[in-house]
Amino acid sequence: MSDHRVVIVGAGMGGLCSAILLAHQGLDVTVVESAGEPGGKVHSRDVAGVAVDSGPTVFTMRWVFDALLRSVGTSLEAELRITPLQVLARHFWPDGSQLDLSANAQESEAAIAAWSGGDEARRFRDFCKTTRALYATLEGPMIRAQRPSMGRFMGDLGFKGLGVLAQLGPMRNLWQQLGHQFADPRLRQLFARYATYCGSSPWQSPATLMLIAQVEMDGVWSVDGGMVGLAQALSRVARRRGAVFRYHSSCQRIEQRHGRVSGVHLQSGEFLPADRVIFNGDAGALRSGLLGDGLRQAVPAQAPTRSLSALTWSMHTPTEGLALDRHNVFFQSSYASEFEDIFAHQRLPEQATVYVCAQDRPADLLPGQAERIFCLVNAPACGDGNGITEEALEQCQTRTFQHLRQLGLALQPTTRNSVRTTPQDFHRRFPASGGALYGQATHSWTSIFSRPGATTPLPGLYLAGGSVHPGPGVPMAALSGQRAAEAVMASLALTNTFPRAATFGGMSTP
Ligand SMILES: Cc1cc2nc3c(=O)[nH]c(=O)nc-3n(C[C@H](O)[C@H](O)[C@H](O)COP(=O)(O)OP(=O)(O)OC[C@H]3O[C@@H](n4cnc5c(N)ncnc54)[C@H](O)[C@@H]3O)c2cc1C
Repeated sequence: MSDHRVVIVGAGMGGLCSAILLAHQGLDVTVVESAGEPGGKVHSRDVAGVAVDSGPTVFTMRWVFDALLRSVGTSLEAELRITPLQVLARHFWPDGSQLDLSANAQESEAAIAAWSGGDEARRFRDFCKTTRALYATLEGPMIRAQRPSMGRFMGDLGFKGLGVLAQLGPMRNLWQQLGHQFADPRLRQLFARYATYCGSSPWQSPATLMLIAQVEMDGVWSVDGGMVGLAQALSRVARRRGAVFRYHSSCQRIEQRHGRVSGVHLQSGEFLPADRVIFNGDAGALRSGLLGDGLRQAVPAQAPTRSLSALTWSMHTPTEGLALDRHNVFFQSSYASEFEDIFAHQRLPEQATVYVCAQDRPADLLPGQAERIFCLVNAPACGDGNGITEEALEQCQTRTFQHLRQLGLALQPTTRNSVRTTPQDFHRRFPASGGALYGQATHSWTSIFSRPGATTPLPGLYLAGGSVHPGPGVPMAALSGQRAAEAVMASLALTNTFPRAATFGGMSTP
């Protein structure tokens, strides 16, 4: 083992992936985590003895984990069981209509033709062509790159990439762009919702977020044991490679000596010396001085707009009235008001879209059989203020389940069958976030340049997680962990033995 000591603060996706890669390189890696298990936002809640996945539920971009695990001599299949889903999501509207989006684009096209007509099916085909081109254009310069500068990004795009972006009308927001793609307002609404995957409003997000549709069409998987199974698998691999995990260990302060990081102080009073520290919490914690006054300058001074938070219900209960698939979305008739309420008024939405994850599906269930259900509505990230009262939470809960009933799904939370999680709860769990679940909102096309990258102005301090480049989501946070590990290795001048993203697939060391 090398005598370089790395402490990783946080066992979220970013921290776990950094731990795997750095431990695999023989570095002395310790992960300190406030919670009692790995995963961070990837977590489950206990509902009367049943674990219900209560963080991310949509697993995409498996290539990120395939490449990462292959690079350390194992594979996703060796570590856990995952199954591709045939239905990406089932969508319900107040007019009684329903549409399944399928993993097979031709099946989706046929479903759209039957549901909305041949012209709309043709528009869907064009839309798929556009999102494919967009994803291919942005994967290298944006998703896989270390934090890009504007100049480098433009250079990496090249003439062809710039052409793809120009066709989109780069100054259009996602909502406007989708108005050009679809005539049926329901499809516009369906694809606009992808902005919420990075915690943003379709009215303020750049049209480039259409690429998230492509990410889903490339595949959505279910993980045996839930998404927490993924976090557990990654922590197992990191441990096998020699990383040490210390749970229930909060980092109170990151220490500096002689102008560089020298270790971390735990809340218990213990000091862990380290010459490199990767911080996997919300970048806002550094900005607000939570981990030491001297670290404020490690991230851009201006606080960005926070992304969405959520109000969620983890449930174990029978459902009645509708045939659910695994991922289900219940739309409202007015979509814009949801984002006005959240971003302009910082209040729980009057008309919330409801996401319902039926985690035991698509398997058939017996009538009346209790199943694991996770319901989510978007909420403002003001969990650190007094803006969301108990009364407002209760009213939102009543409206949410009334809406589901109106659309045909009988589901009622009780104190016995459900556990509610509020923006305040998320804020407590993810310090300085206000409950924002996706770092900063992606509210302009330049936001890719405003997130901090893996390196900071403070020597020895690195960042990983959804609040840093390339942004939020399980695979993106994993990529950020990879970028942080690369930056650490580059600083140790060991890059020649370290696999970069492009070569991950070819590297295999037992
Ligand atoms: C309800 C919900 C639904 C979501 N849905 C999806 C989805 O379907 N698909 C998807 O891809 N993504 C989804 N996301 C987003 C995704 O979960 C996150 O973007 C990603 O998991 C963030 O990983 P991270 O690396 O930023 O770490 P985080 O998950 O933010 O974890 C950071 C860890 O650091 C620890 N920590 C922080 N400060 C300290 C400290 N001082 N000392 C010790 N430990 C500390 C925290 O306890 C935490 O465990 C969802 C998130 C939530 C909450």
